[in-house]
Amino acid sequence: MIIQLEPNIKADQLQQLEEQLDAIRYSTTRVTTQFADYIIGVGKAEFDIRSIGTLPGIRDIHRVSDAYKLVSKKWKVEDTVIDLGDGIQLGTGHFGIMAGPCSIESEEQIEKTITHLQQEGVRIMRGGVYKPRSSPYSFRGLGIDGLKMWYKRTREAGIKIITEVMMVEQIEAMADYVDVFQVGARNSQNFNLLDALGEVDKPVLLKRGISGTIDELLQAAEYIFSNGNERVMLCERGIRSYETAYRNTMDVNAIAMLKEKTHLPVIADPSHGIGLRRYVDKIALASIMAGADGVIMEVHEQPEKAFSDGQQTLSFPEAARLYRRMRQAYELRETF
Ligand code: PEP
Ligand code: MN
Repeated sequence: MIIQLEPNIKADQLQQLEEQLDAIRYSTTRVTTQFADYIIGVGKAEFDIRSIGTLPGIRDIHRVSDAYKLVSKKWKVEDTVIDLGDGIQLGTGHFGIMAGPCSIESEEQIEKTITHLQQEGVRIMRGGVYKPRSSPYSFRGLGIDGLKMWYKRTREAGIKIITEVMMVEQIEAMADYVDVFQVGARNSQNFNLLDALGEVDKPVLLKRGISGTIDELLQAAEYIFSNGNERVMLCERGIRSYETAYRNTMDVNAIAMLKEKTHLPVIADPSHGIGLRRYVDKIALASIMAGADGVIMEVHEQPEKAFSDGQQTLSFPEAARLYRRMRQAYELRETF
């Protein structure tokens, strides 16, 4: 059960509510986000929801039996749209493209990518400065200095930054230079990191774990939300299956299902989803048809020279063609 409180609820009204919940043996957690104040009740007893809903100081109440609650569409029917400022929005009705290299490599690379994005009207640039690599001997990113250099260039160009945070300790130093924090597949259930991102006033894109279920992804999102941050997006980036012909199995099913289960924006990552350049366009378009609100994808001036994930990275002309086709596909989908 979710109870949204009136912002000015009085202490005696709160006490009356707590006594009622106690009487039906519901355990409660108070959740305060940047937008609202809630009480999450968990219990088994049958009760008349009106007996609580009509108490003073209560704005709204709903039964939500799923393990995840605040991110559920059973609680919030209207889809969440995340505003990044400067007219950039993500969510239902606002198709978003985030493009850039797997890793931020150099000032020159940043500038070339920005010029490409500006030419194509793409306003969010992706790139990693802290890279989770399967091998410790691979390039692991330029770190905070790389982020600062990148930030300076994007501000001049009016472009937003999405980048991965790997540890709680990195959040504070990064926060001023980031528009969206990305939680990578390997950290999808790092609950300490999720808790900490709940306290940050920046949107978070949460990727699905490599072997994560849809339910686990939604519960991971609930961690961020219930710690105070309602601006969460989910990202399908492919899961591990028995198939070895490609890097991951892009679970397009999950996109359709997530759009039904949650009010949060759902983003597709076709680059990691299949891991092979020549299929990225098809998987991106399929994801849009399945309901994705946006696409995050890897692009590089010379993919074959990229420090990481070159095999799944599009060249600028390939990417430009795909942006156009994705926009067309999205417009078509909206007419269905
Ligand atoms: C990335 O976006 O480059 C990345 C490392 O993604 P994932 O966490 O999905 O593997
Ligand atoms: Mn990558």
